[in-house]
Amino acid sequence: MTDTMTPEQRHRCMSHIHSKGTKPEMKVRRWLWSHGYRYRLNVKSVPGKPDIVLRSYRTAIFVNGCFWHGHDVEWKVESGKWKVTNSDCSKIPTTNREFWVSKIRRNQERDQENYKMLYENGWQVIVIWECQLTAKKLEHTMREVALLLEGNMLSRYKKHTIIPYTTEEEAPIPIAAE
Ligand SMILES: [Zn+2]
Repeated sequence: MTDTMTPEQRHRCMSHIHSKGTKPEMKVRRWLWSHGYRYRLNVKSVPGKPDIVLRSYRTAIFVNGCFWHGHDVEWKVESGKWKVTNSDCSKIPTTNREFWVSKIRRNQERDQENYKMLYENGWQVIVIWECQLTAKKLEHTMREVALLLEGNMLSRYKKHTIIPYTTEEEAPIPIAAE
């Protein structure tokens, strides 16, 4: 194959791919696509504007930034003031604290409303956190997501035809009389 790009064009092209690829949502999309999952983006007819929609799996995926969605942050009111316990991946700034607390808590409330609305409309919701998509964790996280997706797909078809082997103590296997 002939390379028709100038070094400058190639550089621009590569850096474009790179900057896009570092976004958490892009990592998820790329993994899903390369493993045969087909999805749609920004589907307006689905409530809550999920990042990724897999219609045949009836599943909505949200890819949440840890800071903006307050991943694992604990909140408590103590003598009229917010007591915040940061997590490893989400640290609420100490300056302007009231502002940040109310902003991030509002995001969380909206998230919960969206998930609930989707669920009540028959959608399964999967939330993936940015910190679960590091180079080290990506593959494991996405395999879990794939497993959830397959489960969601199967649960739409009640009749299972493949029965895994178990020992007799766990579940006796009926033996056909000859
Ligand atoms: Zn996190």
